[in-house]
Amino acid sequence: MTLPDFDYQAICDGMPEARVMRGEAYAAKGWAELVEVGPAGILAHVKGERDIVYVVEVSARDASDARCTCPDFEENRLRCKHVVAAVRAAMGADAATLETAAARLPRLADLLDMEGRDDVDALVDRARRDPALLIDLEGAAVA
Ligand SMILES: [Zn+2]
Repeated sequence: MTLPDFDYQAICDGMPEARVMRGEAYAAKGWAELVEVGPAGILAHVKGERDIVYVVEVSARDASDARCTCPDFEENRLRCKHVVAAVRAAMGADAATLETAAARLPRLADLLDMEGRDDVDALVDRARRDPALLIDLEGAAVA
């Protein structure tokens, strides 16, 4: 499993150091959960200070196309600490973790399919962008 060839230096370039450090701390605490990884990009659910989980997507090497659902990003288009956390978590993950992350949504789709649900693709796509729904579906599918 390969990631985009992230240029961490370029990603952090121009960001206040405090924001970079907060993002790195989030990754270290395991607050950035990888939902989708591949050569084309990553999608992560990143927990913030108030237990709100934001959805982060990054494809470009320098994260110039990064998106996050947090207010900093939505209001100011700031490359936020959640983007740092997501990239850092992906770059720091070992091969097994990346394989598991890459298999996560296909596996969920399989499980939902076996349950005979006919809205599988739409559900999985919603769960990518809805952390609570993802947890719900994975819990229900395992049970
Ligand atoms: Zn953010």
